[in-house]
Amino acid sequence: MAETVKEMTCIVCPMGCPLKVTMNGDEIVDVTGNTCPRGKKYAITEVTAPRRVLTSTVRVEGGHLPLCPVRTRGDIPKGLLFDAMQEVNALIIKAPVAIGDVLIPDICGTGVPLVACRNIHKV
Ligand code: SF4
Repeated sequence: MAETVKEMTCIVCPMGCPLKVTMNGDEIVDVTGNTCPRGKKYAITEVTAPRRVLTSTVRVEGGHLPLCPVRTRGDIPKGLLFDAMQEVNALIIKAPVAIGDVLIPDICGTGVPLVACRNIHKV
């Protein structure tokens, strides 16, 4: 089978190293362009089972702000981002909210919680 090369930018740190993953079918033959081992791990995950941290906002009732920024505490499969956003969009929370509060304990059955990223005071 002919080899193919997938190009991507490493998003693990601000260096943004340009990565090249050489594939032979589904087999990874080589990873180049990474400055550190984390880049190689990212490249392999990206071509086999890509994952992302979800960031968004959630509606708040009775707070000094109408929206609370939120994020998943870890990355989740990229293919579940749309379903996860539907869970987030359906959520309405009540003030007060503290940074780190778990708002959804197991988003989309991933085992990863959605947490608040800002304090929202009750008014
Ligand atoms: S390969 Fe390493 S140094 Fe380069 S962007 Fe990724 S984590 Fe940063």
